[in-house]
Amino acid sequence: MSELPYTGHCMCGGVRFEVTEEPLTAGYCHCTRCQRRTGTAASAQARLAPGSFHLLAGDELVREYAPGDGWPKCFCSECGSALWSKYPDTGEVGSVRLGLFDPGHGIRPQWHSFVDYACEWEPLPDDGLERHAEGKPR
Ligand SMILES: [Zn+2]
Ligand SMILES: [Zn+2]
Repeated sequence: MSELPYTGHCMCGGVRFEVTEEPLTAGYCHCTRCQRRTGTAASAQARLAPGSFHLLAGDELVREYAPGDGWPKCFCSECGSALWSKYPDTGEVGSVRLGLFDPGHGIRPQWHSFVDYACEWEPLPDDGLERHAEGKPR
């Protein structure tokens, strides 16, 4: 079993954080925005409980891109790592990219969202997770 807090960092190590509560949920997003943002077929991410995210280092490195019709996306200006999105209403960290977390955490994706937009070159895995044609209903 893993223990809180969960820790993580970007590729260059400049941005470091910890998460002090179990995430609300986690899943894969297959939307075209996530494909472009990550350069991959899908983005695995953990939706955090408000107040559970703590930035330990690298505040000055975090840059933000707001697509306009979606949550602002943050990335490391030094190494380009995708970091997290922010709740648009509060500006708090919302979904942290799962690949940033140090090994040993117990967070497991539970669903696939925006599967109608999934890449033709990477079929959805037959993993039994729930699937949503568009966004996961909240
Ligand atoms: Zn970095
Ligand atoms: Zn997405």
